[in-house]
Amino acid sequence: MLKPEEVREDLNKICHSNDAVWLDYDSIHTENEQKDLKKYLKTYEYLGINREQLLLLGGLSLKYGGGEQIAYGSMARLSGSTIRSLVNNKNLVCISGFDTLVEQYVVYHECGHLYQNSLGLFPVKNQDNYIRYLRENHANTFAAAVFFIKTPKILDYKKARLWLLSKNISDFFTNQEIINGVFGNTWSKYHYASLPVEAALLKDIHRQGRKNFIKKYTNPDGGIKFEELAYYCKDVVEANAYTPEYLESIMKNPQIFKEQKIYRQKKIYRILGKAFEMHIMLISNRKIKKRQAIDCKRRKENQKKIEPLPNNNEESYLFNQVAAIDIARTLISQQYSELLDLRRVVKDDDYLKNFEDIKEVNPEKYEQIVKRCNQIRIIYQRNKENMSFELFFNLIADNDGRNKFWHLVEKVRKKNREENEADKSMDVKADKKLLTLRLKDYISKEK
Ligand SMILES: [Zn+2]
Repeated sequence: MLKPEEVREDLNKICHSNDAVWLDYDSIHTENEQKDLKKYLKTYEYLGINREQLLLLGGLSLKYGGGEQIAYGSMARLSGSTIRSLVNNKNLVCISGFDTLVEQYVVYHECGHLYQNSLGLFPVKNQDNYIRYLRENHANTFAAAVFFIKTPKILDYKKARLWLLSKNISDFFTNQEIINGVFGNTWSKYHYASLPVEAALLKDIHRQGRKNFIKKYTNPDGGIKFEELAYYCKDVVEANAYTPEYLESIMKNPQIFKEQKIYRQKKIYRILGKAFEMHIMLISNRKIKKRQAIDCKRRKENQKKIEPLPNNNEESYLFNQVAAIDIARTLISQQYSELLDLRRVVKDDDYLKNFEDIKEVNPEKYEQIVKRCNQIRIIYQRNKENMSFELFFNLIADNDGRNKFWHLVEKVRKKNREENEADKSMDVKADKKLLTLRLKDYISKEK
């Protein structure tokens, strides 16, 4: 394993020379949610993307009780991503950390993508499957090459080689769906099928001699010549990648995939792949558990904020009605990265047509959207004659206004708490229970 500081230093250097910044998941997943959000937003500012845009892009989701929260997505697992801004062409590298081999591999893999972007290697043309395959193969090969340069001692080198081999096997061959030839969303798995290319890299390193190879791509100060290495890896990929026809044919018929035959015949591959999978699971579970604990705490705090007010006066009743609308809207926005236009939901009967795309892909999700939109419409219809309701409704229909609205609710709640302290009447409690029951009709709780 490499030293975490060393990897961090490399990432700093690479980002500095490639118009990029980096963000690691742990640093935006601390005990202080507000601070995390601020840091997250600031990072996206570098890409020229503001809060509103980030919300629509799915990087943020609305939060119950006002405000926004970070949509962590796949970052929760030990994965990374590289985002290139279409606004200013700058890059953001998201990583999971520097501590374990997997995390370190992810760092260099993402750096491979950075060099693709800045050097114009394998330029992306409308999500071309084959280009994506070449890009992922290049990123994998780049990360592997860095590992081999950073392990000059033969024993470390052999360990790195074994690790990468078992990683490749695990990534690809232990995927039961592929072995059985059943496809779900697993096509992208083929983009990472880099075993032949990485094997060619190893062969070439041996042909050149390990010492010569390390010397060739190392500066006198000991740093790696990353840019030259990226060009070299491009050549290795181009000379050894599958042809578009072959990639197409194995995607359609994995039975002909030659590596799969080897995998079937050689038990050792299966054992290696399985062992690696378990190793990854152990490491990731530890980290993921820690993050989930923080998530859980945040959810609980949020939940408290949306508890209905005691329904003992008209004002509280209206607050609760409007709150129920906002909660239903938030649920939709959180899941579908779609900032729901409340005014259109209640006034435009054709509004649901916007979700026709989802209907095709995921009818169940579509049903849920319809259900929640209908909840919103029912509450609106029931109260729209009331001037105060209309006022509150207009408030939550705007993004900034909804924060003001929840702030008001919080104030009433505080006032209630103080009054409750003074007079702990049973009636208020009973009323509160009744209202909770009523609100449950409007809000279907998410697991
Ligand atoms: Zn990648």
